[in-house]
Amino acid sequence: MGAAGCVIAHAGPRIPGRWCRPRVPKLAIQTWGDRLEGVERMNGPVSIVEVSPRDGLQSDPAMLGTDEKVALITRAVRAGVRRIETVSFVNPKRVPQMADADEVMAALHADIETRSLGASYIGLVLNRRGLDRALETGVDEANAVVMASDTFAQRNQGQDTAGLIATANEICVEAAAHDLPISVTIGASFGCPFEGEMPLDRLADVIERVAEALPAEIALADSIGVAAPTDVTERFALAREIIADRPIALRAHFHNTRNTGLANAAAAAAAGVRTFDSSLGGIGGCPFAPAATGNIPTEDLLYMLHRMGLDSGIDLDALTANVDW
Ligand code: ZN
Repeated sequence: MGAAGCVIAHAGPRIPGRWCRPRVPKLAIQTWGDRLEGVERMNGPVSIVEVSPRDGLQSDPAMLGTDEKVALITRAVRAGVRRIETVSFVNPKRVPQMADADEVMAALHADIETRSLGASYIGLVLNRRGLDRALETGVDEANAVVMASDTFAQRNQGQDTAGLIATANEICVEAAAHDLPISVTIGASFGCPFEGEMPLDRLADVIERVAEALPAEIALADSIGVAAPTDVTERFALAREIIADRPIALRAHFHNTRNTGLANAAAAAAAGVRTFDSSLGGIGGCPFAPAATGNIPTEDLLYMLHRMGLDSGIDLDALTANVDW
């Protein structure tokens, strides 16, 4: 089977306009624990970080206007999303889709009614300049990125991994000084589009050095969608061991290139991860990672987590009614 054909046929990015919901009978949310003896029910709240406005749109060749982006974010928040990556403070020459980050944030702040719903607006920052812009525009939290392989790091951000760790740690210190919650995403945690496998000892070293700056969260990202659930179990266990008793939460970011995204999310949930990145309609990709397709779809992820007994507090019916546009 031709690999390229397979990827396109089964895992092409879906965009909200084209997304249609399969007509299936509605099932009551029932957990394994209700039905099976001896199967441990997972519980506890989970949270979703909606990344469609950023990860989703940054690689979309059809650039959305500022108003359309604001409409997308507003609808997601009104549908119940409580953390959302709204913008990316990157060099507009490299990612023109994100050039209007300041305008998007200004419009979001002006919409007091939506703002009052209490959603956290997250800005992606790749350097000090980005952090300054994030602080000026009043994001609620920031997210820095470290690519675990040198080649991907150079292509994505123009520095090697060690350079990106130094930058991320500087951002963490500066964000803490401004009381701005900060997360760090470790990209290519499961494999690199240029270098192939990501050795465990290298990933361990990156996690250790990122953890030293004490971000609120560390996300392991499968930026190109190569992971299988066994990788997820192994690598989140590794991260947990390295973080030990430091106050750092773990977060998972999966792409659905080979349709393993939801299985990987289930493995991450079983490994104790309670925060997941996802994208309404599964849109997205990465402009610097060849053939990477969309994030895992928020609505399918929530259906799965809720049925596993992990409550997000999001009304799935309201959300799906709102994404079907
Ligand atoms: Zn991504």
